[in-house]
Formats: sequence, C-alpha cells, structure tokens
Amino acid sequence: MNQKWNGGANNGISQLAACTNTYATRNLQPVWYQGSLITNGLEATNLAMDQFTQLIRDNGFRRALPAKIDYSIPSPVTSSTIRGETSFSQARVPLSFVINPTQLDRVEINGLTLSGSMFHAWLHRAGFKDPKTTSYFISEAPMCVMRGNQGKGPALPDSALYQFFD
Ligand SMILES: [Zn+2]
Repeated sequence: MNQKWNGGANNGISQLAACTNTYATRNLQPVWYQGSLITNGLEATNLAMDQFTQLIRDNGFRRALPAKIDYSIPSPVTSSTIRGETSFSQARVPLSFVINPTQLDRVEINGLTLSGSMFHAWLHRAGFKDPKTTSYFISEAPMCVMRGNQGKGPALPDSALYQFFD
C-alpha cells in the first residue's frame, strides 16, 4: 500500500504489483467490475489494492456488517487454510473468512504462507474468482506474497503454495 501510495501520488508500482504482473494473466477483473478491460497483472493488483482500501474503510466505519472469523474443518479433509466467499458486490462487504483449525495447528505452515492464504480469501471478498492455479490472478498475487515478492524457482512449485488456498 505504501509503495503504491508513493507519498500521496498513488502512482507507485509496488513489489507485489511488479511480481504479480510477471505471472498473472487470467481472471484479472473482479465479478462486479464494469470499467475498461484490465489487461495485465499490474492493473489488476492496483485495482485490488484500491478495492481493499474501500473494504477496510467500509468495515472500519461500520458501513458493512461486522466481519466474522469462523472456523470449520473441511469435510472431506483438504489442505485449505482460510476460505472466503466470492463477493458479487463492490461495497459494504464484510471481510469475513473461515479458518481451517487443523492447518493452523501445523507449525511448519509459517506466517508468510498464512498471509498469502488470507490474501487469497480476501481477494474473494474483493470479488475475484478461482481457479486457484497457475496464471490466475487470485492465485498468482497471493503466491507472490508467499515468496516475499520474489520470482519463481524450481525449488518451490506453485502447487506447494496454492494447495493452501480454498
Ligand atoms: Zn479460492
């Protein structure tokens, strides 16, 4: 957010946007979006960041229903960590999600991985859709978070990261 805000000009290219721009090519627009076509991952990331700003404002000023963090073990069991429902609305959307407590108990799933998982869930709240696989925005942007905005390498296949999404 700070990198994009760029001291008030709101025209910076964040490390997240630069990373996502390299990899995200599909499902670049939220379902509610009716503006001009989003053609790359940079535009998509900037749109998502603006939408998060709106959602955090709406939640903070109580213009949305209170956000709830619930928990549920998926049945059948999956490697999902955090699940958010895709919102079809642009405004007044609660930033709610559902935690899989079984995964949260695993110490080897670190904070960065969980941050990416939460980002995936909140991208659903922002209106972005699965599939949660390679080249789709809702997968590539959170995977950039999980890699610390570094590029991909053979040691860490995408599937090792998007297995945690729901
Ligand atoms: Zn998903």
